[in-house]
Amino acid sequence: MLLRLSQEEFVALVQLVESAENHYLDWPLTAIVRCGCRLYHLFLFHSGHINHMIEYERDPDIDNTVREIASTLGMRHLDLSRVICMRSYGSKSRRVLARCHVMPRIMQKALGTGAYYLIEVVSENFEKLQDDDKTRTLIHELMHIPHSFGGGFRHHGNHVTRRNVESMYRELVRRKSI
Ligand SMILES: [Zn+2]
Repeated sequence: MLLRLSQEEFVALVQLVESAENHYLDWPLTAIVRCGCRLYHLFLFHSGHINHMIEYERDPDIDNTVREIASTLGMRHLDLSRVICMRSYGSKSRRVLARCHVMPRIMQKALGTGAYYLIEVVSENFEKLQDDDKTRTLIHELMHIPHSFGGGFRHHGNHVTRRNVESMYRELVRRKSI
């Protein structure tokens, strides 16, 4: 049964999903079903499940930018040999600029490797940004990586906030201008 959500319900749902970092949701293609207990069940008809493939490629330019940001800001907890930058093409989302992915601990164990983090820029949306907002977006994604660098993930909460990103961005600009 598909229900049309009220604006209020929709906003609450978007907040719920964003706080869970389900950045992969493709809202226009997401059907929402509400069950009797008022929990929302999301049935994700991601574009990839229909007839549309998202393409990915390594992005050495973003790699370099991320390295420059991390070293200028002294983010020494990041093992940059295990932070990989990719660019995706073909997302239907018009909102998502970038995502931070992490290799789950169970996969690290299975593959006998340490944690890897991957920053994906969603090309269609990211490229519309001015350079300063591209930098802010990359800072935002780097802030999702916890100091332990062990496969965990820092959620938005009170850490990855617009305000903290802005203060890191200003610090970056200040240090680069010295
Ligand atoms: Zn985020």
